[in-house]
Amino acid sequence: MADPRGFITTPREVAERRPVEERVKDWNEVYPGGPGRALLPIISEQAGRCMDCGIPFCHSGCPLGNLIPEWNDLVWRKDWDEALDRLHATNNFPEFTGRLCPAPCETACVVGINRDAVTIKNVEVAIIDKAWEDRQVRPEPPEWLTGKTVAVVGSGPAGLAAAQQLTRAGHTVAVYERDDKAGGLLRYGIPEFKMEKIQVDRRINQMEREGTVFRTGVQVGETLTGHHLRDRYDAVVLAIGATVRRDLPVPGRELTGIHQAMEFLPQANRVALGEEVEDQILATDKDVIIIGGGDTGADCLGTSIRQGARSITQLEILPNPGTDRPETQPWPTYPMIYRVSSAHEEAGERVYSISTKEFLGQDGHVSALRLVEVQMVDGKFEEVEGSEKDLPAQLVLFAMGFTGPEREGLVDQLGVDLDERGNVKRDKRYMSSVDGVFVAGDAGRGQSLIVWAIAEGRSAAAGVDEYLSGSTNLPAPIPPHARPLTV
Ligand SMILES: Cc1cc2nc3c(=O)[nH]c(=O)nc-3n(C[C@H](O)[C@H](O)[C@H](O)COP(=O)(O)OP(=O)(O)OC[C@H]3O[C@@H](n4cnc5c(N)ncnc54)[C@H](O)[C@@H]3O)c2cc1C
Ligand code: SF4
Repeated sequence: MADPRGFITTPREVAERRPVEERVKDWNEVYPGGPGRALLPIISEQAGRCMDCGIPFCHSGCPLGNLIPEWNDLVWRKDWDEALDRLHATNNFPEFTGRLCPAPCETACVVGINRDAVTIKNVEVAIIDKAWEDRQVRPEPPEWLTGKTVAVVGSGPAGLAAAQQLTRAGHTVAVYERDDKAGGLLRYGIPEFKMEKIQVDRRINQMEREGTVFRTGVQVGETLTGHHLRDRYDAVVLAIGATVRRDLPVPGRELTGIHQAMEFLPQANRVALGEEVEDQILATDKDVIIIGGGDTGADCLGTSIRQGARSITQLEILPNPGTDRPETQPWPTYPMIYRVSSAHEEAGERVYSISTKEFLGQDGHVSALRLVEVQMVDGKFEEVEGSEKDLPAQLVLFAMGFTGPEREGLVDQLGVDLDERGNVKRDKRYMSSVDGVFVAGDAGRGQSLIVWAIAEGRSAAAGVDEYLSGSTNLPAPIPPHARPLTV
């Protein structure tokens, strides 16, 4: 056990972010020198707050099965090498989750019942950032090769986790990615200020040194078809994400200046890293309205601030959930509460219980949104009479989520069955309806989180290894039907 009285004597503490006025002038992470370095002076004491529960409920919040009390104890003792070993035992990429995860482990932490939960995510990121800084993260190539080949399509967290597990198990793995660089949403969705891309680059470098081959700029389903891939490789893993974007087909949708978040964010990410983008969608000097109150919306908000938007408003159709855990979502579930991301600290206004009726335009370009307040009646949104108002906007960004994987091209070619939600159906080993074709991440689960994508990638790798070798020693942290701890 860490400090036996830590949870009583030590209050929860987190690292200071850089001052808002400083950080909105650049694209770097919001913590000085990155979260790991910023946390180092306080993190051992914070890890000491862990009670090493007989039944560690934090485990039930995390699909990876992270060994949380073990690494809390090791960090409290400052045994960083062993902590890294225990961290990597369940998570290929703790620097991604340590920065980006909403931390369902913390809302399930037992200390959180009547005090502030242990800062689990901060302990995680402190261990891995220190390890990278101390050059302790090294390639782990396999000792021998099995002679079996695997193609992984898609290089987001699910594809990367599956590829790393399978390469280390001795299979020869090629990752196909249609973008020019690997990383999926980690690279072109998530902005620099949340995670600098050096984090992705050095993992890709580690994987290449372990033997994984990356073939970027290849849209599988075009010249290279799904059938080619199935013929050429002993197994295929579809980790193509859920990239079909939800739209808002109300009057005025055809006006210019209305874009999907995933048109806006990738361009901004490229420019932040020094690339040139023609006709970039820019928030500069504009009134920006973001439709959608989630993570993607917050990323658009932080990006718009850095581009010099005049005003930013984020709209959410659901009511403001408030800051307290609702009685209907008790510990240890992940509650819907009002959360303040780093971008929300910086600027912008959030408006709840509001719906867009129409986009108004001038000379073919959007100039305002006609909005109406809504309330929930018998599970349906109803407009509040007389609440219509117009809000000026010269840039509108849709951050309303995704409806599933793209069907045309690869998915159609392979003829894999889809489930009732349009995701690729899989059996308990993550195999689709087509022999030897597996599926991992958002493509099978639907839009989710990085931690779930990594857990799926690891689990699908175990399914593939068993399929190719007859048995497997690879861990499978979750079955395909596992769901987050909610009510
Ligand atoms: C803007 C944004 C911000 C987010 N922020 C967070 C966050 O802070 N925390 C969090 O936990 N989750 C976040 N999420 C969700 C998270 O990023 C996803 O759940 C996760 O990335 C899913 O991983 P994946 O590997 O299944 O798919 P993806 O990351 O979507 O990767 C799929 C990859 O497949 C490639 N691909 C698709 N079809 C083909 C093809 N035919 N040929 C070749 N390549 C193909 C795509 O180009 C893409 O690179 C965010 C999502 C978005 C959109
Ligand atoms: S639930 Fe909280 S206190 Fe208990 S073991 Fe997990 S992190 Fe430690």
